[in-house]
This record gives sequence, C-alpha cells and structure tokens, in this order.
Amino acid sequence: MKNPNLSKEQQEVLFDKATEMPFSGALLNVHDEGEYLCANCNKPLFRSNNKFESGSGWPSFDDAIEGAINFTTDTELGMVRTEITCANCGGHLGHVFEDGPKDTTGLRYCVNSLSLDFKKK
Ligand SMILES: [Zn+2]
Repeated sequence: MKNPNLSKEQQEVLFDKATEMPFSGALLNVHDEGEYLCANCNKPLFRSNNKFESGSGWPSFDDAIEGAINFTTDTELGMVRTEITCANCGGHLGHVFEDGPKDTTGLRYCVNSLSLDFKKK
C-alpha cells in the first residue's frame, strides 16, 4: 500500500526506516492549527496542539491521536528504542522517548517530517 506520489526520500523514511537530517524537515517550524497526516495514507496521526519545540531538529509531539500509532520495540543501533509506525499503513514515522514535557505526558514523539503531511485547519 504505497502512495505513488511519495518522493524517493519519503519512501526511504516510510518503508526503509531511514532518518531525515535533523533541522531539514519542512514541517519542523510549522505552528499553524491543524492535523498532521501520514504522508503515505493520509490518516490523521498528530494534532498541532500536541506539537512542541524539543530542540532535537525533528517535529516533536507529546501525544498522538488515539489508536493512530503502533509501537514496536526496536533494538537496532545497539539501543532499545520504541519505534512508532502508522497503525493504518505501517509506514515508519520515528521513535517515542520518555523525555518529553513533564507537565503533560512526559513523552516525546520524534517524527520525521518526511513521514507527515500537514492539513491546516
Ligand atoms: Zn499511514
């Protein structure tokens, strides 16, 4: 279930689990109100009110839309991390870490901008 309109870079992230260069993503500095969709299947994954500035160089969210994300333990690179994928199409999004904002969920969903499209409200 690959969207034929994806760029080569988007396919590398979504299907080969590549990671985009930090601070390179088109959606990193978007602050408009709206929803972030899976770039492959267009399912809504994140809401703009959960986006925050993590300083990591990747779009970061402290929560996801209920049921939109699957979580898988990833032991590549010699680290135990939790990979996040689109629950609808299985596209790779990034990872979730437990160093997010303490006043909300404490989670940081670290997402490749290439995996996302933005739908302005
Ligand atoms: Zn998807």
